[in-house]
Amino acid sequence: MKYTKELSAKYIGEVEHAVMAYSTDPQIRTGAASGGVVTAILIHLLETSQIDAAVVTRIKYGKKIDCEVILAKTKEEILSARTSKYIDVPVAKEAVRLIKEFPGRVAVVTLPCHATVLKKLAQRDPKLAEKIKFTIALFCGHSSQRYLLDAVLEKKRIDQEKMVDFAFRRGHWRGQMQGRLNDGSEFAFAFTDFSVYHNLNFFCLGRCLRCHDHTGYDADFCAGDVWLKEMKDDPIKHTVMFTRNPKASKVLDEMVQQKKLISRDIETKTVFRAQKRSFIYHYNVTARSKVGKFYGVKIKDTVKTKVRWNDWLAAHIIMINYKLSRNEKTRRWIMKIPRPIIYVYFLFLKFLQNF
Ligand SMILES: Cc1cc2nc3c(=O)[nH]c(=O)nc-3n(C[C@H](O)[C@H](O)[C@H](O)COP(=O)(O)OP(=O)(O)OC[C@H]3O[C@@H](n4cnc5c(N)ncnc54)[C@H](O)[C@@H]3O)c2cc1C
Ligand code: SF4
Repeated sequence: MKYTKELSAKYIGEVEHAVMAYSTDPQIRTGAASGGVVTAILIHLLETSQIDAAVVTRIKYGKKIDCEVILAKTKEEILSARTSKYIDVPVAKEAVRLIKEFPGRVAVVTLPCHATVLKKLAQRDPKLAEKIKFTIALFCGHSSQRYLLDAVLEKKRIDQEKMVDFAFRRGHWRGQMQGRLNDGSEFAFAFTDFSVYHNLNFFCLGRCLRCHDHTGYDADFCAGDVWLKEMKDDPIKHTVMFTRNPKASKVLDEMVQQKKLISRDIETKTVFRAQKRSFIYHYNVTARSKVGKFYGVKIKDTVKTKVRWNDWLAAHIIMINYKLSRNEKTRRWIMKIPRPIIYVYFLFLKFLQNF
């Protein structure tokens, strides 16, 4: 699919200023998902008194690791929440609860679906609207059921109960899943050992099948990874970041001027190129709605877009994988599929989603 302004408006939405950037602070970048730009923005907003706290999502340790949504009032707390969490977290619900209890102004990091919920709630509640100064949406392919995380860790024989540090993803390009146990031992393995199942939509959340928003139409800032071949060898990972309004652009400008970010302006065409595969598939609820009927999955077609043969075939694969991972008996077999087969299957789906 070739880039056009119309396609960009459909997949990406309104963009005021787009950049490829990274935090100049190596402490922020270490442990971030991409260039640490989201974390750098939150710290900047806090340190310049534009907010009093940030709503972020971090890992919680216990019998099983989980995610918790917290109100971070210090730089250290914001740093503790770096990098992406790929399991379902009720961010909008928790954010509203935390914000209502808190007298100050906040920035909230969300996924696109949460940003839409927050916007709707804020439109009905002026007090809430007044407190939410900024929303930052992460680009989102989809989220997984926590079953996938448990299954991957079990396969690697890692005891969650002993974990004192964990990140879904750290490090260059696709990165590694990393952690530390209470006996001091560390583990790390390729993030693709998790993401290959995630990207095949095994254990995908039901609501993600109905979602067409990849970038966060309703957020002030939107941030994602830079999947451009020419960036693979760059020793510093960058974040694609764009703003949707002047107040967000002003923050970005301040940070560049104060040398908190190294940033390069890009056109939406580049954002499109960096994310093409994900946008096209994600947007096409029509394909999933049509194909869902064969599998007893009801999906309302909210976009009424064209379905090409490859979209149709990709939607079938995704629906089969979704159904297999919903069944108690078949879900156990998914993790037993030999690695070479799962990778070839993944490459085939990637091919179908690539044009
Ligand atoms: C489920 C999921 C799917 C994603 N899919 C894509 C994709 O398909 N393509 C793409 O380009 N990028 C995707 N991303 C975004 C990408 O992984 C990075 O988050 C983004 O590039 C920003 O990187 P950063 O280094 O600037 O963020 P960091 O500085 O590492 O900060 C990340 C911030 O996000 C918050 N956060 C982490 N997980 C969640 C969550 N689940 N819900 C709400 N807040 C959270 C953290 O609290 C932290 O404040 C996804 C992220 C998630 C969580
Ligand atoms: S794909 Fe959509 S519904 Fe699913 S987690 Fe991402 S933004 Fe939310």
